[in-house]
Amino acid sequence: EGFADAGLAEAVLRNVTSCGYENPTPVQRHAMPIVMAGRDLMACAQTGSGKTAAFCLPVVSGLVAEGRSGVGPRERSSFNRAAAKPRALVLAPTRELAAQINEEAKKFSFQTGLRVVVAYGGTPMYNQLRDLERGADILVATPGRLVDMVERSKVSLEAIKYLVMDEADRMLDMGFEPQIRKIVDRMNMPGKSVRQTMLFSATFPPEIQRLASDFLSDYIFITV
Ligand code: AMP
Repeated sequence: EGFADAGLAEAVLRNVTSCGYENPTPVQRHAMPIVMAGRDLMACAQTGSGKTAAFCLPVVSGLVAEGRSGVGPRERSSFNRAAAKPRALVLAPTRELAAQINEEAKKFSFQTGLRVVVAYGGTPMYNQLRDLERGADILVATPGRLVDMVERSKVSLEAIKYLVMDEADRMLDMGFEPQIRKIVDRMNMPGKSVRQTMLFSATFPPEIQRLASDFLSDYIFITV
């Protein structure tokens, strides 16, 4: 099956076409129907497999189908700015990967009205905070920077519907497990919305299996 059969929102399908993608890669072919069906996913996939589109397309499509969040600049008082409340969060190990995912998510969100914002460490927070204040539907972040922003009440995780952990094995290798656990804990507060979680990793060692059993519920495992 091709992209046209995946059940993606019209606008998203148009954006796939303008990216020049003609046929889905194997990870896209297998992952998209699972995510579109609302299931949690554990996917073993390498860089270069097309995994970014595999999670971005159904997430963007799902948010488009839900409609606008209603938390935009006009609803915000400039005196008492509320924390940004993204509905999708993508965690990535490095600023390079986060920047790449941000670019891809922006392309797929073109003319959908959704806002994609990126936040990573190693650079002043100022510009990222200004972006967040304009509203964020999809936030792409490295774990350390995100924890910092959450602790400063710049980001609230209580509206997260979609959580993606990309290159989870690399995040653990880099020592981000405590930050990841802190972030997921923030989503588990009472009154939170029902969350769909996707875990991507090149390898599936016991530490990743443990993350999967802690953070995913009734998940489907694919390996490509
Ligand atoms: P990723 O594994 O997500 O980093 O993607 C690797 C590269 O493949 C990126 O440059 C994507 O833009 C490209 N790509 C992903 N999916 C497709 C597709 N279905 N057709 C053509 N190129 C693709």
